[in-house]
Amino acid sequence: MHIKKQRLLTPGPTPLLPKALHAMMASDVHHRTQDFQKIYRQVLGDLKEVFGTKNDVLPLVSSGSGAMEASISNLFRRGDKVIVCTAGKFGERWVAMTKAFGLNAVVLEEPYGSAVPAQRVADALAANPDARGVFVQASETSTGSSHDVKGMAEAVGKTDAIFIIDAITGLGTMPLDIDGWGLDVVIGGSQKAFMIPPGLGFLSISAKAMEFTKTCDLPHFYFDLKKELKSAQNGESSWTPAVSLIISLGEALKYIKELGMNKLIDNAQLLAKATRAAATEMGLELFSPGSPAASVTAVKSPQGMDSGVIVKGFRNEFGMIIANGQGSMKGQIFRIAHLGYFDFADLFSVVGALELVLNANGYAVPYGKGVAAVQNVYAEAAFPKVTVGA
Ligand SMILES: *Cc1c(COP(=O)(O)O)cnc(C)c1O
Repeated sequence: MHIKKQRLLTPGPTPLLPKALHAMMASDVHHRTQDFQKIYRQVLGDLKEVFGTKNDVLPLVSSGSGAMEASISNLFRRGDKVIVCTAGKFGERWVAMTKAFGLNAVVLEEPYGSAVPAQRVADALAANPDARGVFVQASETSTGSSHDVKGMAEAVGKTDAIFIIDAITGLGTMPLDIDGWGLDVVIGGSQKAFMIPPGLGFLSISAKAMEFTKTCDLPHFYFDLKKELKSAQNGESSWTPAVSLIISLGEALKYIKELGMNKLIDNAQLLAKATRAAATEMGLELFSPGSPAASVTAVKSPQGMDSGVIVKGFRNEFGMIIANGQGSMKGQIFRIAHLGYFDFADLFSVVGALELVLNANGYAVPYGKGVAAVQNVYAEAAFPKVTVGA
């Protein structure tokens, strides 16, 4: 009937940078050659620059969860006490993973839609002076909430514990001053703000955290950070790297460097602000109003409407893939992503489509109301000296 372009608009995988996608075609190169070493060294250097740290940043062949697992299996001892923050499905992943490796997890839980206050971490560290690590999500993708990483880092920095941050949707959406704040392990994933397909995890590691590799007694083999670091110093990876993804990443990092990491963050934050304004203007409720993330905005489905109906409406009417809630939030919320290669034209479409889908399903909202809210946020930022839209 009408053309529906498939658009991937989830908070991971995110829209792909065309140049990075095209670069994957040149994957007919052997990984133990000087040609590839040159690419790999460049990627290692650019990762450090984009992460904004002097620490080493290692790419691992896995989704983000593999890098999360590596941070546990390479740094801790069986029975180690650790403090684990959780306020969503990814926090629950930290809890499950630390337990799977036999760590003694002191769990700081907050309800979905809120965040663990930094003070709770400080208090937990005071009550558990033997804690050797603190785990958190910078941005909790399942609820669209963010954590006060800086405030937590201040508390952790006063102790012997190391601070491990799942920044898989935090990187490129919020400031994370790894060296200035003392963030020991910062984890990223290729399919989030890095604009390339899934399959790579990233992990920056501080000298303090590297010391922990010496006493670690947990089994690990494929993810061996000491070995990986040594390989990286020779411009190589320990095992066969994901050649196509590394080449793709090279292009994406070049793009991010040209844009500037701070601009990438500003972009996500402005889109997030516009999304919240649109939702509010349409009479919808935000799921995480107190500590909203810039990676993704979680919106409550209108009373009596399963959010799956909205997700399906986006797909069937417009070919747009947006995210439902996860776990018990499924059916309750839908999530609008804005991390990585998203722009205002994407958001105009998403909000315009949302107005149509809501109306088609019995929730009345005047056409253009949400779109106008997005336009206002854009105009305010882009044309501050002009009176527009009057
Ligand atoms: C996407 C994501 C992950 C990683 O999930 P994978 O499927 O392993 O890539 C972890 N934490 C957060 C906060 C995420 O958004």
